Amino acid sequence: MAPSPEILVRGAGVAGLVSAVSLAERGAHVTLSEIGDRVGAGASWMAGGMLAPWCEAESAPDIITQRSVSAVEWWKAHVPETIINGSLVVAPPRDTGELRRFARMTSHFREIGASEIGQLEPDLGDRFSRALFFPEEGQVDPRKALEALKTRLVSLGGTVCLNDTARHDDRLSESNWDYIIDCRGYASRHQRPSLRGVRGEMLLLKCPDVTLHRPVRMLHPRIPIYIVPRADHIFMVGATMIESNDDRGITLRSMSELLNAAWTLSPAFSEAEIVDIGTGLRPSYPDNIPAVTREGRTIHVNGMYRHGFLLSPALASEVCDIIFGVEHPQTS
Ligand SMILES: Cc1cc2nc3c(=O)[nH]c(=O)nc-3n(C[C@H](O)[C@H](O)[C@H](O)COP(=O)(O)OP(=O)(O)OC[C@H]3O[C@@H](n4cnc5c(N)ncnc54)[C@H](O)[C@@H]3O)c2cc1C
Repeated sequence: MAPSPEILVRGAGVAGLVSAVSLAERGAHVTLSEIGDRVGAGASWMAGGMLAPWCEAESAPDIITQRSVSAVEWWKAHVPETIINGSLVVAPPRDTGELRRFARMTSHFREIGASEIGQLEPDLGDRFSRALFFPEEGQVDPRKALEALKTRLVSLGGTVCLNDTARHDDRLSESNWDYIIDCRGYASRHQRPSLRGVRGEMLLLKCPDVTLHRPVRMLHPRIPIYIVPRADHIFMVGATMIESNDDRGITLRSMSELLNAAWTLSPAFSEAEIVDIGTGLRPSYPDNIPAVTREGRTIHVNGMYRHGFLLSPALASEVCDIIFGVEHPQTS
């Protein structure tokens, strides 16, 4: 292999961009090919951007938690706008049993009462008497973070090809490249037949009457939701988790559930403007665990499920180790 391997990364979602930047930082010549007209043309555009290894332990196996604890650090180093204000988990009074269940499944939180909820989130203080606060968790605005990674890749000498139909063919010849990194998400299903889509619907609300400083999860036995604050009083409300490959627009039922939940969190959302509505298919393997798999000179990074932002740095590091060998810390 040449000292600077020539690498084609297919797909400019979060898996592709994080892999491309990580490879370029290790000295590879990277071409990033995206069939859409922008970076993040797939599921990554719809994401909440929560970097929440400890909250996710509620439903994810230990391996996900172990592999995601360094994600906040990676994002902070690559996207300075990464916010580390923690996450808050609340439940309406009738569902406080859900809060106890969530606490049993997770760690790295402290239980707080109304007065501390009010200090952290003045707009919620009088609405909830108990909450779990996970101080080490963070968030990115996915759309801005993906753009920032694109800029970083170009500054490292990488090439980004949008609307790239020239390289979309599945029979793409490996011989032109030292490695091909396939990060096409759900579009890779013909090569990876065990991949399925897990449909996620989301809304963006604009609401100058509400201020939140961190992602807030509101537990409910049937419809748990979260609200992630972004700049300029924009709030991402998400997300459904539906076993379906159907990527049509949001259903009336999902829309009303997300809106009702936002309203329950704070009635001030009733005057919010709905500025975006989206549906994404989370590319998922049967065990919901993302994986790096190698076939010749093609390396597949896929199955990111609901953890694309959380786990891409760990998977990209695995790809780098395959190509460059494991990096050992310097000793003096
Ligand atoms: C509503 C919602 C909320 C979420 N919230 C979070 C969260 O808070 N935190 C978190 O960590 N994860 C979250 N996720 C999960 C996360 O979004 C996914 O795990 C992640 O986006 C998957 O990334 P990917 O790069 O594998 O796939 P994608 O983002 O789908 O990217 C694949 C890319 O490949 C491109 N492509 C397809 N075919 C070709 C081709 N032939 N040639 C070139 N390019 C091609 C596509 O256009 C697309 O841009 C959420 C998901 C959803 C739907």
